[in-house]
Amino acid sequence: MTTTTTPITVAYGDGIGPEIMKATLKILEAAGAKLAIETINIGEKVYEQGIPGGIEPSAWQSLRHTKVFLKAPITTPQGGGVKSLNVTVRKTLGLYANVRPCVAYAPYVKTKHPKMDVVIVRENEEGLYGGIEHRQTHDVFQCLKLNSVPGCEHIIRYAFEYARTNNRKKISCFTKDNILKLTDGLFHQVYEAVAKEYPEIEHDHWIIDIGTAKLASEPEMFDVIVLPNLYGDILSDVALELAGSVGMGGSSNIGDSCAMFEAIHGSAPPIAGQGIANPSGLLSGAMMMLVHIGQAEIANTIRNAWLKTIEDGIHTADIYDPSHSQEKASTDAFADAVIARLGQVPSQLPASAFQTDQKPMHLNNLSFSAAARKSKRECVGADVFVYHPEHDIATLATKLQEAAGEGFTLKTMTNRGLKVWPEVFTEALCVDQYCGRFMADGVVAQGEIAKLLQRVAAEGVEFVKVEKLYNFDGLPGYSAGQGE
Ligand code: NAD
Repeated sequence: MTTTTTPITVAYGDGIGPEIMKATLKILEAAGAKLAIETINIGEKVYEQGIPGGIEPSAWQSLRHTKVFLKAPITTPQGGGVKSLNVTVRKTLGLYANVRPCVAYAPYVKTKHPKMDVVIVRENEEGLYGGIEHRQTHDVFQCLKLNSVPGCEHIIRYAFEYARTNNRKKISCFTKDNILKLTDGLFHQVYEAVAKEYPEIEHDHWIIDIGTAKLASEPEMFDVIVLPNLYGDILSDVALELAGSVGMGGSSNIGDSCAMFEAIHGSAPPIAGQGIANPSGLLSGAMMMLVHIGQAEIANTIRNAWLKTIEDGIHTADIYDPSHSQEKASTDAFADAVIARLGQVPSQLPASAFQTDQKPMHLNNLSFSAAARKSKRECVGADVFVYHPEHDIATLATKLQEAAGEGFTLKTMTNRGLKVWPEVFTEALCVDQYCGRFMADGVVAQGEIAKLLQRVAAEGVEFVKVEKLYNFDGLPGYSAGQGE
């Protein structure tokens, strides 16, 4: 039996957050969870105080001290000027793995897929979620998608370790590497390399579009799915809704030293304050937290009582169905029903089986990343993005050829990634930003790219961005233009 009290940080969040957090903590307390709770303020009220991160500076002290965060959903203000608090917390605390179990509870919760039991392991720190965006010209807005070798290796190793520890048999990886050959290609490549170290776990790879379609039609095909950040965010909401309701799923955000636990859903403003929200998503996150802090026995007690409540047909409005529900419960009534069943086990649904001896995973063996850092890196050219609203491609090409000077050759010009020079034959719309690809005669010395940019400017062409082109062990680390 657990005797240690664990300090945790709690935030009640926005919208339905306070209602579901209150219900969740009431259940944890009744079940005997040993927690020393520190409460912090985050979200809308903090944004309104003019703090663009949505979290008070003092709150970080609590998070650094407890290293365990139970967080209710918050409302992210739309538009510019503020950053998503969720993303900030995940990145600041190094929470690289987002684990989202999506399970059906048929026949008690309506679903088209009664056997669905999929765990989505989503990369949580990189990809498009750096939120690094720029408006470069009148026409063009850019968002940078950054995938790193250590970032990919971390999440993929975590997914395989998760499968091994939790007795899962198969992992599927979803990417779009038929188009994004370098960024998603890296994710896929690391996946194949790491998979070799786990021969007992079956593995496959799907292009994200057909993989998503298959998940929607035959989720029984999948066990654990590992995927890059944005895809995982979207796919897990789809998967949860397929399983029954987005209100049912919890998630853990795991890092090497800190962890955060939450519901998958958001703050659901339309139903806030009505006392009808389903607390199950946050409660599921809280159970994952209990396992993480060594209180798995209590997590099993709570989950069994919760399963029994679902079996007994006591359902919040989002999953209530008169054909098989017995009672439409408010948030508080649902929590009380779970508390009344503490000590009971479900009669039909599989009983809770959180492992009581689970050890924290420490993924220090980033061998793929170490090898990648040893590759020979040579600059062989530059892509220079220029503002050119006149759409006179031949004139621009002449100026950029002049700017190339002796050390470089203008190889191509592209517009939105499509080759438009030489051999122009395109019906495509051209926007006011072009990219000149300058290849060097040999390896480019430090400073030569700066001189190239000066020559571009001297031709009266405004550059908006330069991307140096590197070879790694002789292989290009840059994509070709469409039609090149
Ligand atoms: P949402 O998940 O908040 O809600 C969508 C709809 O799903 C709700 O209107 C409601 O009908 C239903 N729903 C969600 N949770 C429910 C529950 N527990 N019980 C019953 N029904 C539930 O998605 P949204 O409307 O896109 O987002 C609202 C806000 O939440 C936005 O500001 C968004 O940025 C934020 N958000 C926060 C988090 C987080 O804090 N982790 C996650 C997602 C979205």
